[in-house]
Amino acid sequence: MADEGLLYRRLWFFCYVKVACMLRLFMDVIVLNNATLESFLNIDKHIMFHLWKPAVRCCWCNKQYLVRPHTRSVLTEQQMKSLYTLNGIPRPGHHTVYGTVITQFCLSQIKAKSFITTDNLDITMMITIIRACSPNLFNTLQQHFELIRTQRNELAHCETNGTMC
Ligand SMILES: [Zn+2]
Ligand SMILES: [Zn+2]
Repeated sequence: MADEGLLYRRLWFFCYVKVACMLRLFMDVIVLNNATLESFLNIDKHIMFHLWKPAVRCCWCNKQYLVRPHTRSVLTEQQMKSLYTLNGIPRPGHHTVYGTVITQFCLSQIKAKSFITTDNLDITMMITIIRACSPNLFNTLQQHFELIRTQRNELAHCETNGTMC
């Protein structure tokens, strides 16, 4: 009988590596529909910006207001920086500050990283992007994404507990 450690490593391999591979393929073919991830992230940068800064108005909010004052950030600055460069030049009058508070952020400062591909994304990031940018697709497959998330969390929990290693 295979020992628990071996079974755990097999399960870990399936949950992390295989599922990540399948999700990447799904992203490339269905979500991106043969567009590059770079162009996809540039088109949806307004949505992605407000996952990072939900309470800060931006210059694209004139067309579609996405500010949600009391919502917590879904993405950290580090996660945003893994997808975008954040130090572009704001357009004149677009970046406004009151005291030390940014009252409007200019999205010209944000640009998707050149040559970024789904190989650069982990499972959490892929699910976050699909949920935010392709909500209809996400809702259709929500059960499956939920299963991936809970199984992965359960495994991570066992790993930190040391119960399966
Ligand atoms: Zn906005
Ligand atoms: Zn702007």
